[in-house]
Amino acid sequence: MNRRKRKKVNQPAPQCPYCGAMTHLRTADGIYLDNSRNTMLYVCKNYPRCDSYVRVHPGTTIPVGTVANKKLRSMRNEAHRYFNQIYYRGIMSKQEAYMWLSDLLGLPMASTHIGMMGEYYCQLVIEECKKVLANNPGSYPRHPNISGGGMLEAYC
Ligand SMILES: [Zn+2]
Repeated sequence: MNRRKRKKVNQPAPQCPYCGAMTHLRTADGIYLDNSRNTMLYVCKNYPRCDSYVRVHPGTTIPVGTVANKKLRSMRNEAHRYFNQIYYRGIMSKQEAYMWLSDLLGLPMASTHIGMMGEYYCQLVIEECKKVLANNPGSYPRHPNISGGGMLEAYC
């Protein structure tokens, strides 16, 4: 196992930044409309009163980002949709796109993850990606499922 390579192996479940309660690890059953992929989430103990959670990397207990409420989850999804189109359309490679984003936000590459971003950065990503896409109108999606609904929950 490569668990030792991770810095945060023994970290407890993340705390909810909205209400201050702890989160607990559970399946996304009853939260995702379709949890056929058996996604696991850290969910705020006050859910559903406090609608905040973050999913984990499949097969691990490592969260993909920070705990997010509904509004932030939706902004992260939107930011990811625009950002992904930059490399789906071949405007940049995926790596170039992450380097561009890292440079744009002044963040190190290791921290350039939309799942870690708050509303301010998400909005910035959305606006900047829109500009790139608007400046490259002749590019076409290379990915057939670019607007597939299945992508949405993947970033929650
Ligand atoms: Zn909460």
